[in-house]
Amino acid sequence: MKTYHDTFDPLYALQKKLAGFGEYSIRKTYYPELQQRLEELERFKALIDHSNDALFLIKVVTGRIADVSESACRQMGWTRAEFLETSLFDLSGLANCPEAEKLIKQPLGGGGERTLAVTDLLWKGGGRFLAEITLNRMSFHDEDYVLAVARDITERKRTDEALRQSENFLKNIVDNIPAMVFAKDAAELRYVAINKAGEQLLGYSRDELLGRGDHDLFPEEQAEFFSSKDREVLARRDLLEIPEETIKTRSGEDRILRTRKIPLFDSKGNARYLLGIAEDITDRKQLEEQLLQSQKMEAVGQLAGGVAHDFNNILMVIMGYGGMLKTDLGPDSPHKDKLEQIIDAAERAAQLTCSLLAFSRKQVMKPRAADLKNIVEQVQRFLVRIIGEDIQLRSILAADNLPVVVDSGQIEQVLINLATNARDAMPKGGLLTIGTGLLDIDAAFVQANGYGEPGRYALISVSDSGIGMDEKTRKRIFEPFFTTKEVGKGTGLGMSIVYGIVKQHHGFINVYSEPQIGTTFRIYIPLIARELAECERIITPAPPKGGSETILVAEDDPGVRKLMQEVLTGSGYTVIPAEDGQDAVDKFRANRATVKLILMDIIMPKKSGKEACCEIRLIDDDVKILYSSGYTLDIIQSRDVLDTGAELVMKPVQPLELLRKVRELLDNER
Ligand code: ADP
Ligand code: MG
Repeated sequence: MKTYHDTFDPLYALQKKLAGFGEYSIRKTYYPELQQRLEELERFKALIDHSNDALFLIKVVTGRIADVSESACRQMGWTRAEFLETSLFDLSGLANCPEAEKLIKQPLGGGGERTLAVTDLLWKGGGRFLAEITLNRMSFHDEDYVLAVARDITERKRTDEALRQSENFLKNIVDNIPAMVFAKDAAELRYVAINKAGEQLLGYSRDELLGRGDHDLFPEEQAEFFSSKDREVLARRDLLEIPEETIKTRSGEDRILRTRKIPLFDSKGNARYLLGIAEDITDRKQLEEQLLQSQKMEAVGQLAGGVAHDFNNILMVIMGYGGMLKTDLGPDSPHKDKLEQIIDAAERAAQLTCSLLAFSRKQVMKPRAADLKNIVEQVQRFLVRIIGEDIQLRSILAADNLPVVVDSGQIEQVLINLATNARDAMPKGGLLTIGTGLLDIDAAFVQANGYGEPGRYALISVSDSGIGMDEKTRKRIFEPFFTTKEVGKGTGLGMSIVYGIVKQHHGFINVYSEPQIGTTFRIYIPLIARELAECERIITPAPPKGGSETILVAEDDPGVRKLMQEVLTGSGYTVIPAEDGQDAVDKFRANRATVKLILMDIIMPKKSGKEACCEIRLIDDDVKILYSSGYTLDIIQSRDVLDTGAELVMKPVQPLELLRKVRELLDNER
């Protein structure tokens, strides 16, 4: 195979020519020098031909190829002769590179000008490859040329691309980690990288963050904390965990982070960067706090449930005798007022017990459709008594009715607790404002306030012009047993009861307060449709009828037993008292012919109500039994101490209600 050396090699041809020179003397004179030049040229050509770059000498204006290196032939597949017949514009994409085109096409001068173009070069067999071409204007023998040096950058492109892809991949991973990931330079502690989660959390864009330090972005105290931790990590040269730190975002909101910081070293072992990974634990913290709150409430509930039974027995005695005394005294007695205060107080105490149970979810709510505005109106007269003369009560009640389903006793309790606190907050007097209204809560409200659920609500607001609270206190007021009042004055239960009641009504409560200015509580209770509310009619109960039947009263508490006995005998009944379960069975056996009804405490010594009942049923399957208990129905049922379908009166029993229930049962045909 002939190489291009054989066919067309000017040096080779010259060599041949020289060898043929006739005159020996001439030959002798020039030959060594020529020989030397020739060798130089050969070396130089080899240098160019073996280069990896393709070299073109092209004519200005036309771009025609005047000379070309062998490396160009190798790379592109064209022969030298083929190259010399064309222009570089035909074999490349240079026509699309304005700078390069201008450099070549400019007819005159411009020596020393150069430019760089990245464009395609064409292979002979078709196809193309990407080249980086350096173009230099030059003059040679009074002619202008452009020297084009082209380098195949396909491979480089490929590695670049691969690198870019892997960078992208990594960036993608980092961006999609659901935690803030950032890096700071170790020297100046400025942000040099941050991922998407970080931008979202902080509310700043990457551009705003990069190059800035914590002191440019966050409140002084926070920034100082972050920097001190940064310095600690760099000094330790090891990972540091910060279990909790607070950061203020652009919107002004505080978020709680759990952060780990890690130093990154260069090849010499110097810490160059600091890597941080921060997880937003705000929501989890809130849940934990809620859990803690509910655990505390659970504890209160247990306590309340535990004392309710005995406590209610005592209350029942007070209220029962109070009631009887009231009837005995008659309407004109000078003691009537005082007696009413006693009964009132006992009623409130009974309500408190009920509320305690409600908030521990052990009390079955007695929800009814009612008008919240109405309840507020009615409870106001109590409130006046609670707050005293130095505090002015003002109410701003909306025109609208507020149909809700509530346990009105519990709502009263809420208002009483709030008013009591308001009174304590205004020892020198002030203003207490109670308002009601109607409110539509939409998604935007929920978003903006961070609580609530969209819907229509009845709103009660209770404001005072008292001492107010700082943020620390405000955050804790719903905690059971949290009080800022002196021993003996505060129980710390008022607000937790309020909270429990509101929650049980599927509502929510918020508090706004500032020290020395005052406090406003807002309570939102879901509204029901108006038509439903219309159905609710208050039925005025008829006074209960008495009777002459014989009733066996089994009750271990002597006070309660005596009260029941007096209530029943006062209405014409004959009562046989029994003081425990066993006594009840014995007395029934002895009087089975006369006893028409047994009033039976569920929890009694010796034999429980249920055990006693089983034995009595063996004696007489037909006798009617009415249970009484200080525990609520759900507790009793959960403890399996009562037959399903059994009749129950709750303690403290109101005498009228007891009489009504007794009559009702006696009149029932079995
Ligand atoms: P207590 O009244 O027995 O202290 P609460 O649960 O009713 O318990 O209230 C808890 C605490 O909340 C109070 O001790 C008080 O610091 C604060 N607080 C409640 N209501 C108000 C109010 N209207 N103004 C100022 N502080 C209040
Ligand atoms: Mg209180």
